[in-house]
Amino acid sequence: MLGATGSIGASTLDLVRREPERWQVVTLTANGNAEELAKLAREFSAELAVVADEGAVPRLREALAGTPVRAEGGKAALVEGAGLAADITVAAIVGCAGLAPTMAAIAQGRTVALANKEALVSAGEVMTAAVRASGATLLPVDSEHNAIFQCLSGADLADVRWITLTASGGPFRDWPAERLALATPAEAVKHPNWSMGAKISVDSATMMNKGLEFIEAYHLFPVGTERLRIIVHPQSIVHSMVEYRDGSTLAQLGPSDMRVPIASALAWPARMDTPCAPLDLAAIGELSFRAPDEVRFPATRIARHAAAAGGGVPAVLNAANEVAVAAFLAGKLAFTHIAAQVEETLGRFAPSSPSTLDEVIAIDAEARARARELLELA
Ligand code: NAD
Ligand code: MG
Repeated sequence: MLGATGSIGASTLDLVRREPERWQVVTLTANGNAEELAKLAREFSAELAVVADEGAVPRLREALAGTPVRAEGGKAALVEGAGLAADITVAAIVGCAGLAPTMAAIAQGRTVALANKEALVSAGEVMTAAVRASGATLLPVDSEHNAIFQCLSGADLADVRWITLTASGGPFRDWPAERLALATPAEAVKHPNWSMGAKISVDSATMMNKGLEFIEAYHLFPVGTERLRIIVHPQSIVHSMVEYRDGSTLAQLGPSDMRVPIASALAWPARMDTPCAPLDLAAIGELSFRAPDEVRFPATRIARHAAAAGGGVPAVLNAANEVAVAAFLAGKLAFTHIAAQVEETLGRFAPSSPSTLDEVIAIDAEARARARELLELA
């Protein structure tokens, strides 16, 4: 479980906790929250607990003293922990920081339940080629991609007319443009339908989340950018759709609870129980849809162009977005400047086309440096 202390980590471990006889936890990782990680490692009798932040190792060791859990820290330990023998790895670190450990799990040829969309956006073909080479199985946990995966259920992509990603539209869906410029971090992280980590919540507010998901879908379901669409669906009940050439559209519906797609990936191709409330469509009453507004929310347009450009461009988009979101959360960048910063960084840095993990990581680092330079100029 990569990213055990996060929102996806908590949802995953909640499912594991309900069926202890079914699961044996090998590795749990976190960034710097050693105390929480130690608590989870004790509860789930993990073999190894890893903090990415080496400075947190003494606290982790202290908190795990007297237990058989091995405690390690740093990037190399994270990669080592991700590579330990296991049947399934849940990749739920936030950001490109999760790329190397996710690739380590893929290299083992195992099943990887992928929530960490930034890793796939940045590495693109480098990751999908590694999946093919090792024989790994990549199961999407992101609710939209998990929905598409279920609606496709092995269909021939040549029979697909459209893949439609649904978007809630985020907390500012109905805000006028003037008000968006004044949006605060506290307002941005308050998502109307989902409870998630801060970074993805801001991405939902800017619609960059849907932009990243567009690129994610492009790699997971290679139908070409022209057959991928985005539609705003405020209720977040239809998680995405596939329309076939004969006019049939299949959709996956469910409550806005990540334990549903996580369970789908954990048990695939079987099914498992979740504690989620059954879908009560009569109570919900109405499902509505509308076209996205790319004037107020330009992120999906920027991401679509990055997907079409390919090569290292999506890695630059992702890195610039991570820097801009962090600056916004720190109160150093206006909400509407997040997408503008990303576009500006893309305009100033034309990366090469990476063919190895190290090349992706180098592009990510260079793009972050450029994005930070721009922030200082602003
Ligand atoms: P979160 O912020 O709640 O948790 C992130 C996890 O990653 C934590 O365990 C944290 O310790 C770890 N982490 C952070 N920085 C790290 C670093 N530099 N090195 C190593 N570990 C680090 O985030 P989340 O909401 O759980 O999202 C995790 C991933 O899943 C993201 O890629 C997000 O886009 C994706 N996702 C989340 C949801 C959701 O509902 N939360 C839905 C779909 C996809
Ligand atoms: Mg999603």
